[in-house]
Amino acid sequence: MIDLHNHSYYSDGVLSPSGVVQLAKNSGCATFALTDHDTTAGLDEAQCEANKLQIKLIHGVEISALWSNMTIHIVGLNIDKDNKILQAGLLEHQDFRKIRAEKMARGLGGAGISAALEKTKMLVKGKMITRTHFAQMLIAEGICKDMKTVFKRFLSGKKPGSVAGKWAEFDQVINWIHKAGGVAVLAHPLRYRMTNTKIIKMLSNLSTAGLDGVEVVTAHSTDEEIVRMGKWADELNLLHSCGSDYHGWGNQKVQIGRLKTLPNAEKAIWNAW
Ligand code: AMP
Ligand code: MN
Ligand code: MN
Ligand code: MN
Repeated sequence: MIDLHNHSYYSDGVLSPSGVVQLAKNSGCATFALTDHDTTAGLDEAQCEANKLQIKLIHGVEISALWSNMTIHIVGLNIDKDNKILQAGLLEHQDFRKIRAEKMARGLGGAGISAALEKTKMLVKGKMITRTHFAQMLIAEGICKDMKTVFKRFLSGKKPGSVAGKWAEFDQVINWIHKAGGVAVLAHPLRYRMTNTKIIKMLSNLSTAGLDGVEVVTAHSTDEEIVRMGKWADELNLLHSCGSDYHGWGNQKVQIGRLKTLPNAEKAIWNAW
């Protein structure tokens, strides 16, 4: 089993990098990637644990990016995490996240939720504050019942806790990943609120900018979606990847390594590794 998209508490996951690696091993993963949002800070610890448990760890990162003014996620796999260009880019995103968290808290304050930043910080084990942390805080406070509701009511679009993402453009992000020797993969292509026409346009633009692959199988993929994504990928000569996007919050159902198999093994992004 191969799972190339997972989070630790260095971004918005619950477990430590060692904890995620242990869980991956226990779930029967042979190859596994840690792909925290906009940081590679968990990879050293993950690598130590992977060496102990003899599981193949792929160094990864899930980078926020803009395409056509919308936030998308591009996963870098097999990166040299010490690459200066990559780290300079990630640092910009980390800095933006700090400013964004303050703005989000101010917005939530306007909607009557006091001390949102302080309350959210209590849930953060790493250095990064994400929207997931704000969402978990609003659930813990009894303001919303689940993640879907929080994002809809508070954290997206023009809602009180929503702040426009000032991320790097997609072509720049792909370039950072390539400079770091990695491959660039579009994450969860069917999770952006876009029509099929728009998704194909996005894939085509990203492909022109050097995208290497796309996640054909994600945690909740139906058979029809897997076939559809595989076909779109093939039309643009993109390789196929798979990942659960495991975060580990108690109110999420996703498990590490519980994925349908990629139907077309010769297109798998890991064949070159
Ligand atoms: P951020 O990168 O800080 O903007 O946070 C985005 C993260 O929030 C994503 O990586 C998901 O883990 C989570 N997320 C976004 N939208 C939703 C949603 N509708 N339901 C649950 N989690 C979401
Ligand atoms: Mn996340
Ligand atoms: Mn994502
Ligand atoms: Mn993710």
